[in-house]
Amino acid sequence: MKNYTGYQSDFKVKFQAAHRLPFESAGKCSRIHGHNFEVDITVRADALTPEGFTVNYHDIKKYFEKFDHRLILAMDDNISKMSWPVDWVVWVDRSPTTENLVELFAEGICELTHSRNDAVADCVVSMELRETENISASTSFGWSKGE
Ligand SMILES: [Zn+2]
Repeated sequence: MKNYTGYQSDFKVKFQAAHRLPFESAGKCSRIHGHNFEVDITVRADALTPEGFTVNYHDIKKYFEKFDHRLILAMDDNISKMSWPVDWVVWVDRSPTTENLVELFAEGICELTHSRNDAVADCVVSMELRETENISASTSFGWSKGE
């Protein structure tokens, strides 16, 4: 009898985006600046889609395309009142530090896995987000159906 205890998939994504940290202690990072972001993603799920994925890499790439070549700003940033071309800015519900962004993205990929894979009950996404060669952040986010 075959008995699988779960599946793990590993993905890499790169995208370019600008952000700013809207507080004085951020120093020069309080000014708008850009990064070549690199993301390492591990998805653990207890079941596969009918196609045989934990989550389809195309869907993961599409998720990050929302942020590519965009300005990531906190909704409560005081420059949010400026009028920006509508497709330039992605508003996020937290200050866009590396730590907060990796948390946001891990939640997003876990939700994506659940929404694209009806069979999955338990999903854990581990992620590392590299902003520069000196700055990265990582987290794990898990979500079980019914919680
Ligand atoms: Zn930065």
